[in-house]
Amino acid sequence: MLSKMSKLLLVLFDPSEALQAAGFAQALGLPFDVLSLTGTVDPDLGADRILNAGWNDVPPADGAAKAIASVATGYSHIAAVSNMRSKDVLARLAGLLDAAMVTDVIGLESPTLFRRPVVAGSIVATVEVLATPVVLTVRPAGFAKAERRGSSAAETVSLDASSKARRSGASARGGGRPDLTQAKVVVSGGRPLRDAETFEKIIGGLADKLGGAVGATRAAVDSGIAANELQVGQTGKIVAPNLYIAAGISGSTQHMAGIKDSKVIVAINKDADAPIFEVADFGLVADLYDAVPELTSKV
Ligand SMILES: Cc1cc2nc3c(=O)[nH]c(=O)nc-3n(C[C@H](O)[C@H](O)[C@H](O)COP(=O)(O)OP(=O)(O)OC[C@H]3O[C@@H](n4cnc5c(N)ncnc54)[C@H](O)[C@@H]3O)c2cc1C
Repeated sequence: MLSKMSKLLLVLFDPSEALQAAGFAQALGLPFDVLSLTGTVDPDLGADRILNAGWNDVPPADGAAKAIASVATGYSHIAAVSNMRSKDVLARLAGLLDAAMVTDVIGLESPTLFRRPVVAGSIVATVEVLATPVVLTVRPAGFAKAERRGSSAAETVSLDASSKARRSGASARGGGRPDLTQAKVVVSGGRPLRDAETFEKIIGGLADKLGGAVGATRAAVDSGIAANELQVGQTGKIVAPNLYIAAGISGSTQHMAGIKDSKVIVAINKDADAPIFEVADFGLVADLYDAVPELTSKV
């Protein structure tokens, strides 16, 4: 069903996604072009062509999807790194192209067989795409970073991204920390953090030292210690960082469902029998009020 013309268009919402997104492209094994929406990317990703849209920011989803659709003709695969924004835009793109869509791809068996987590990550489903084009969002942690390959020339493309909506303002939340679902380091706190201020000081303090994102358990969110959007787990966000630090977290199955793709899990808990130690790569039996500030001061 894949024609000889099979080719991937890799859409980068942010140039920082380039190397990991190209890792997916190399795993897919098809020739690919890169469409960089904002900023410019390294020329040595192995792409045939690099198209720079040169936007200062990604416009609202209807405009962005229409703009991408205008250059997507002829590609068998269109993919982007998975996050809330790319899912919003690419779902509309799939609609415009009348294409199949597979989100949160973590592995592949062939250019038409993709693996993705379902039921909060407790099951990995294999999805076969029966027709192209297919639109994909990809979790880069599932793929090796790209090897650098020969340079490609960059071209500037002018895309019409006119939209039926307009962003009239923006205010930063989370102190400019990385997106929880994309972060390479996540520091999370649980119920024993006393209040929001203590949570921010202790958990946020270590996260900032490590350049990471902040996460929380549902118990911490429910008791008002942490913001709703920080919840990690079955009914929260699924994370896949290189390093996940869990402080004062027991390790419920619901929380673990959100962190099991983490490469290294470090647990700090004063109860040596806490279930989190069964899955942690490194464990420290200690009071988090001593251990986390000490760790922060030593990083
Ligand atoms: C349908 C459903 C969906 C759910 N979804 C989620 C979800 O998405 N995410 C999620 O996280 N939970 C979820 N939960 C809740 C989950 O079952 C647990 O209740 C929750 O994860 C526990 O959070 P916790 O580890 O912070 O609290 P606790 O289980 O109370 O654990 C606190 C831990 O901190 C340790 N501790 C206490 N004081 C200190 C200290 N000073 N220093 C060091 N360690 C200390 C304790 O030994 C304990 O192990 C869900 C539950 C249900 C029923």
